[in-house]
Amino acid sequence: MLAAPTVIASRAIACGVIASKAAMSYVPHMSILPILIHPDPRLKKVAEPIEAVTDKLRKLADDMLETMYDAPGIGLAANQIGVLQRIIVLDCVKEEGEEPRPLVMMNPEVIAESDDVGVYDEGCLSIPEQYAEVERPAVVTVRWLGLDGQTHEEEFDGLWATCVQHEIDHLDGKLFIDYLRPLKRQMITRKMQKLKRELARG
Ligand code: ZN
Repeated sequence: MLAAPTVIASRAIACGVIASKAAMSYVPHMSILPILIHPDPRLKKVAEPIEAVTDKLRKLADDMLETMYDAPGIGLAANQIGVLQRIIVLDCVKEEGEEPRPLVMMNPEVIAESDDVGVYDEGCLSIPEQYAEVERPAVVTVRWLGLDGQTHEEEFDGLWATCVQHEIDHLDGKLFIDYLRPLKRQMITRKMQKLKRELARG
């Protein structure tokens, strides 16, 4: 997920860049991975649950965080780099000077959600420069497996709530444009097809 073209969002993007330097300086040998652009069959697939935390998964998580901060974005799901495993990364800290908070979630699931809804202008690193309002529960409780091998539970609101739901959707093969009216969705998809043709031509 990429932040929206609002004041809140642009601060989130800027902070992502700052956070990348602060959070990543101690981790060597990370790689920036290519992000798939919609339409791509891998973005429509349901990712597989993770059985155990391995060194390979730790490396994948580091690379995903590096890729997300570099983009810059505030969330990334494994489907977006062509890995069909249930792992997402996010960091929605947006206040300048605030400590970055990189989160890695494996097998994340929403176990409770509010009746109240929140609306954000959403974007996505796999759908560059396209934004649209999406309504989602304003507060969600998420349970996930951490890199420490422990089960975690936390309540999220605001941008964090939107972002974590957006990323979990990716693991189920769902994009934010799937919430839009078909006409709008088709328009965005055609723009992305054109972008991919241009990128392929170099
Ligand atoms: Zn996304």
